[in-house]
Amino acid sequence: MTNKLTIEAFKAMLDNALLRIKEREEEFSQLDAVLGDGDHGTAIVTAFTCVTKAAASGTEFKAMLGDMGMGVMLEVSGSTSTLLGAFFLGMSDHAQGTELDAAGVKKMFAGGLANVRQQTKAQVGDKTMMDALIPAVEAMNACSSDDIRELMQAAADAAQQGAEATVAMQARFGRARNYGERSVGSMDSGAASWSCMFSAFAENL
Ligand SMILES: [Mg+2]
Repeated sequence: MTNKLTIEAFKAMLDNALLRIKEREEEFSQLDAVLGDGDHGTAIVTAFTCVTKAAASGTEFKAMLGDMGMGVMLEVSGSTSTLLGAFFLGMSDHAQGTELDAAGVKKMFAGGLANVRQQTKAQVGDKTMMDALIPAVEAMNACSSDDIRELMQAAADAAQQGAEATVAMQARFGRARNYGERSVGSMDSGAASWSCMFSAFAENL
């Protein structure tokens, strides 16, 4: 039972996410190449490297998450960085101290989603990273356990299912929507990478 998330445990989750994202860099770029410019693997690795670098010197949640969000937005251009930055900045607004209980973890991730919603109007079903992020945060909130490991596993499972569901979807958002029916049949690259992040978080707790 993990009933407290310490700042050190959270940093280890971030490091594991970078490791897992790097392992799948080529796959994310190939998925992006089906409907876009094929740079998503590079973009997410670059952005997440910046995030973990900013986290390394953190000593408490609010300031550390703020540094992570601002750091990635200022140092890396593009929508991947903007969305990831918005996520961590939103988390920063709803976290404090050096350890969080289950309620605190839920509040932090819900804050992240709320701030990403300020950056994109994409909903579940539009074939974007929101197909992984929205179900992940909703599943975490619906989980009544005080065990943070269970919360993160619920989020990871929902993100994975959400990402898999994008295979059958037609893109309705961004440049990808121009592909119409040709967009059906492959997973959205952003949904894949965000789901990878949630899986890595759960794996490392
Ligand atoms: Mg791209």
